[in-house]
Amino acid sequence: MGVIVQKYGGTSVGDSGRIKNVARRVVETKRKGNQVVVVVSAMGGTTDKLLEMAKQITDTPSERESDMLVSTGEQISVALLAMAIHDLGEDAISLTGAQVGIMTDDIHTRARILEISPTKMQEELNKDKIVVVAGFQGINIKNDITTLGRGGSDTTAVALAAVLKADMCDIFTDVDGVYTADPRIVPNARKLREISHEEMLELASLGAKVLHSRSVEFANKYDVPLCVRSSFNNSEGTYIVKEKDIVEEPAVRGITTDVNEAKITVKHVPDQPGIAAKVFTKVAEYNINIDMIIQNFSEDGYTDISFTVARGDIPRITPLLDTLVSGAGAREYTIDKSIAKLSVVGIGMRSHSGVAAKMFGALAKAGINISTISTSEIKISCIIPEKDAKKAVQVLHSEFELDKE
Ligand code: ADP
Ligand code: ASP
Ligand code: MG
Repeated sequence: MGVIVQKYGGTSVGDSGRIKNVARRVVETKRKGNQVVVVVSAMGGTTDKLLEMAKQITDTPSERESDMLVSTGEQISVALLAMAIHDLGEDAISLTGAQVGIMTDDIHTRARILEISPTKMQEELNKDKIVVVAGFQGINIKNDITTLGRGGSDTTAVALAAVLKADMCDIFTDVDGVYTADPRIVPNARKLREISHEEMLELASLGAKVLHSRSVEFANKYDVPLCVRSSFNNSEGTYIVKEKDIVEEPAVRGITTDVNEAKITVKHVPDQPGIAAKVFTKVAEYNINIDMIIQNFSEDGYTDISFTVARGDIPRITPLLDTLVSGAGAREYTIDKSIAKLSVVGIGMRSHSGVAAKMFGALAKAGINISTISTSEIKISCIIPEKDAKKAVQVLHSEFELDKE
């Protein structure tokens, strides 16, 4: 007998038939002699619909109220799933994040989990119940509901698995596992048998939506056995494993693109020590994450500073940019939303050279223009026009022959 945490995403609980299908899978796992905790997302499209409703009221909804609103999506699915499990003759109880005691910080809409008490879940498991937990949500010290950022139910599942010391955390979704690229963009993308935490973390942070990046951090930190697999069939999924357990080390394991960023350029900034610090300290105070930064060529004592941020942060950063431009003596700023970040990731890059040359060569041949480049030990990212994003992923996928074993 073991403790198993299963997570089912929005598409997997998209309608009543699919909820019943999930209930059958959960009950089957329980009847094999396991204690089962299930984490579910809101039914497919619900979170978007709720956010759209808020938008019809105001362009700048309070983040606290936004969390209050979107957390209801998951509350619907846990209740329905618990009912479907009851119908199959097993006992189940649905719980919100607050009822479980998922404590987070108070950064609404992108909160981080601080602590989870396993007591409530363990009590219910000991009563032979299946515990159904609402994903994506928690509660802060003020008793306000918080959410963990889009896709955050994966993180709920892995965090629960960590505190329960679960034997397995299965993330059931609408694809069979983690692929060499998004199979919706590259039809001949190949399913990976395994991928290291480091690679998965990069891919997830760089746009591959199949796992929430923080879930991978938790899995790595707390040694949670993690697998991504299909909720519609029983095929073998992808295991997220320690780097030392990986046999193959191709230069490139996967390719991803992110079309949710925007590039901001602050123009004609005095080129003096301390100016960059001034700009980025202010941005950090607003809890806005900066991604790539470039300071352009300096002319006449002035320079341009460009950086990328999530498009969702633009309403929050705009007033700040207005004051910065006057405060730092810059001339103006521009915001370019028509960009995509394209990344290739692989631990093999540590030992293989020439990946960048191959990547840029293939993009050049395809007539795709690169504006900004950043690298780390196991990834290369560049900014390209958003209109070229899909083509670029396809071009690189065949350039690095990722469809072949
Ligand atoms: P869920 O609702 O189950 O959480 P998501 O939509 O968040 O599912 O994530 C699954 C989707 O991630 C897939 O449908 C796929 O289009 C996308 N995806 C992006 N990159 C990859 C990848 N490398 N491997 C598999 N799926 C990917
Ligand atoms: N329902 C949330 C979202 O759509 C969380 C999740 O699905 O993981 O982002
Ligand atoms: Mg998801």
